[in-house]
Amino acid sequence: MAKRDYYEILGVSKDADERTIKKAYRKLARKHHPDASDESPEVAEEKFKEISEAYEVLADSEKRGRYDRFGHKGVDFGGGGFSWDQFSHGGDVSDIFGQLFGGGQRGGMGDIFSQFFGGGQRGPDNRGDDLRYDITMTLKEAHSGMEKEVEIPRNGNCHKCSGSGAAEGGSAKTCNTCGGQGMVRKMVRRSFIQTITTDNCSDCRGSGKIIDKPCGDCRGSGIVAVKKKIKLRIPPGADDGFRLRMRGQGSAGPNNGPKGDLYIVVNVEPHKIFHRQDNEIILDLELTPAQAVLGDSLKVPTLSGDVKLKIPTGTQSGDVLRLRGKGMPDITRPSSKGSQHVRITVKMPKPNSKTKKMWEELRELDSESPSFLDRMRDKFG
Ligand SMILES: [Zn+2]
Ligand SMILES: [Zn+2]
Repeated sequence: MAKRDYYEILGVSKDADERTIKKAYRKLARKHHPDASDESPEVAEEKFKEISEAYEVLADSEKRGRYDRFGHKGVDFGGGGFSWDQFSHGGDVSDIFGQLFGGGQRGGMGDIFSQFFGGGQRGPDNRGDDLRYDITMTLKEAHSGMEKEVEIPRNGNCHKCSGSGAAEGGSAKTCNTCGGQGMVRKMVRRSFIQTITTDNCSDCRGSGKIIDKPCGDCRGSGIVAVKKKIKLRIPPGADDGFRLRMRGQGSAGPNNGPKGDLYIVVNVEPHKIFHRQDNEIILDLELTPAQAVLGDSLKVPTLSGDVKLKIPTGTQSGDVLRLRGKGMPDITRPSSKGSQHVRITVKMPKPNSKTKKMWEELRELDSESPSFLDRMRDKFG
């Protein structure tokens, strides 16, 4: 198959300057990177390799000069054609993959690029694991906030060796397998991108060090399983699904590595009578016809205890009465609280011998003033 023109591959003109070429390459690299592209990995990788080969030549004034004069013959990459170890411009795109995959994210493309192309080197990856702890609260507890001591199973530093992993008189040497990096790079030949993976070094378990006389309690890891008592403070106003991050309260890392984080995930149980909508609370209240017509003063429950509620005369079914400040506190500003909304329903009673008479009298009165239907008729003809 005839090789495509390098300028055509990058979509630039023959007299394009260095900046234009770099820009074009970066744009295409972003599009065709196998881990970011919509195309199948094989197609994307083929394209990614093609644009990288073109860039390898056009970004280098000497190679570009030879290519301009002699074409593909001028820049022979050897018998097998262009291969990744001949690519010397990884640094020009490694930042793209840093962005694409979230910068410091472990195992992201930025890492692989920088390692493959000899960019930055990272220290031992011996940070402890992040942990998650789920806690269930009633709505009332969520309203007032909660303090609770809980036991979190996690990895802690070994007391016997103070987390070093070495027995008394023992010492730690740099691991030969990974050269103290704590990580090894595995390369499988199937393709360039998908086959370079970094893994914790199994000889030193990611610490970068080998202990000649391991501690008996932790077998050299420096960590042991513990149950740590932690006092949780959930601020007032937590909603279902609220997450609290406690830095450095996760598991300890091997050989005195930094601790991971602990995530507290709050689950708020639904309440029997109070319905929550963000920081607003809704309560349904039934009134008798007399209470609705004549008005009343009642005690109604709220999350902070009973309060007096004035029912105005002539209250209708569907009216909503508001109790300011009786809703949920705002979790970021506990002094600011939502309202409690009291939704009124007027419950019609079945008449008994006594009340039947009174309702009949009421009906008499109704017939003296124009009925609802009569008024509607007047209005709409
Ligand atoms: Zn130990
Ligand atoms: Zn190692």
